[in-house]
Amino acid sequence: MPVLFVGHGSPQHAIGDNPWRRALQQLGTSLPKPRAIVCVSAHWNTKGTLVTDNARQRTIHDFGGFDDALYSIRYEPPGDPLLATEIVAALRQFGAHAHSDWGLDHGAWTALMPMFPAADVAVLQVSLDVSSTARAHLDIGAALRPLRERGVLLVGSGNVTHNLRDAFSRMQSGNTQTPDWAIRFDRAVESALRARDDDALLALWPSQDGMLAHPTPDHWWPVLHAYGATDERDAVAFPVQGFDFGSLSMRSVRWG
Ligand code: ZN
Repeated sequence: MPVLFVGHGSPQHAIGDNPWRRALQQLGTSLPKPRAIVCVSAHWNTKGTLVTDNARQRTIHDFGGFDDALYSIRYEPPGDPLLATEIVAALRQFGAHAHSDWGLDHGAWTALMPMFPAADVAVLQVSLDVSSTARAHLDIGAALRPLRERGVLLVGSGNVTHNLRDAFSRMQSGNTQTPDWAIRFDRAVESALRARDDDALLALWPSQDGMLAHPTPDHWWPVLHAYGATDERDAVAFPVQGFDFGSLSMRSVRWG
């Protein structure tokens, strides 16, 4: 199974016709049908690593100030409690635990809904342990790598650059020019991923551009999880590129 990193951007992209949603729909049609999907979303930050073991997922509308239509969306695929147990075991060294009181946050469902609109593939989420090092996030991805051989699609969902304060001020002022730091960081990520250079990738945050691109690392870490689940046999491709609100990179990555 391939591995994906999806730049999810604004929840608003989940409805209506827009280029970001169309690109994910197209990406979805190019994928083999997975047995299950394991998603690491920027929007589930916890102490310790948690794995959802619900039999069915519920839709979490974890945002405010958007169209009413977004709050009525339900994306509720089945879970996979047995697979959750296996993942907890695979991540034992990272102190992973099963967790039933979550569902799919918008980082997961806005990324997955365009690709798997029928919601007939089981989805699990693995949380981001806020106390983990960047290296540990990469290693968690590596520990999930064997699942790919069994038809499990691993999806990291975040954004390659994510400075909401900058994006909102650009949106308000109408100056949606992409700043140099965003272009540099986005390209540096592409280069490190093409070269499979772990050290270069891990050096990107924290760094000067890194702190502008990610004042907090939540939208960055899923890149590390996804990359960690790949190896040198995987061709890397960038099926979605470009910036929204000037500085928000919508780059998505596919390996394999
Ligand atoms: Zn987000």
